[in-house]
Amino acid sequence: MSEAILVGDELIDHCARCGARTVGLVDEALVGDRIVWSVSLRCDGCDNVIEADYSGRIYPIERAALIARAGLVRLCVAPEAAQGLRLPLLTLFRRQGMTYAEAAAAHAALIGEGVVGTPAEMQLLANRLAVLGVAGTRTVRAAVNPNTAAAGPRTAPRSCLDHGCHPNHGPRFG
Ligand SMILES: [Zn+2]
Repeated sequence: MSEAILVGDELIDHCARCGARTVGLVDEALVGDRIVWSVSLRCDGCDNVIEADYSGRIYPIERAALIARAGLVRLCVAPEAAQGLRLPLLTLFRRQGMTYAEAAAAHAALIGEGVVGTPAEMQLLANRLAVLGVAGTRTVRAAVNPNTAAAGPRTAPRSCLDHGCHPNHGPRFG
């Protein structure tokens, strides 16, 4: 199994066809009510180009590559804007695959220091909050944790990329 290494915002791997270096870029887009991740791989040695779009869970290394490229934003709401909406908000977070404890923590963060995610994740969350009647969401650029950005080479299994599909888990904010 080949393994990718994150260098800057690029995923470096080896071409399944010729063995040369491939460079992969990860992007995200909000499509309706879901996030679509795209990974595009290009081989230095041959004309092999792989474009994969998928929704569902993103691998940690792919998310790190995306964050290196797109950054993070922090979304918060004024506590009064979310007043009386604790239950719908907990339900919203639970539907995104969180445990009850995680949902409670996300609710506390939302009306406190803010929830941090990729730009598309936070746009999706803002849209869902608007549907619930939470007004006045604000997003600000968040610092990328240096541990995320600069922790040396990390590897991940690449078999999913090879055939463009991912396990059908929902992403936390997708
Ligand atoms: Zn190749």
